Amino acid sequence: MNAKKIEERVSELPKQNDQHKTILIVDDEQSIREVLITFFDEQGYDVLTANDGREGIALFESNPTDIVITDIVMPRVEGIETIRKIRKLSRTVKIIAMTGYVDSYLKEAMILGADDSINKPFNTEDLMAVVNRVNAG
Ligand SMILES: [Mg+2]
Repeated sequence: MNAKKIEERVSELPKQNDQHKTILIVDDEQSIREVLITFFDEQGYDVLTANDGREGIALFESNPTDIVITDIVMPRVEGIETIRKIRKLSRTVKIIAMTGYVDSYLKEAMILGADDSINKPFNTEDLMAVVNRVNAG
């Protein structure tokens, strides 16, 4: 391919600034998925969702996202295993763990590769603060 052809090809690619950040939400609760889809969509993110860890890991494998927010307590594959597997697939993805259960789950999540965590229930302002923190870090 000559230089001109390459230049044409490159100019067809979407500009970096035009690309939306992508986020994967993994939670077995439909209401949480719905709230977070709406919220992150409004924030300009392209949002993917999965109902449990198994689905989340498979989805991340085919569509790696910039950020993953995962619940901990889920059927089939739970969040701790999900974090471990997704961290193996990508060293750069920002991973946020969330749970309404004991803090020790969140500590384990951080040890296994989460960048940050949030306790449920939370409001979207609190969540955005965590997202901004991982994006800055
Ligand atoms: Mg759950």
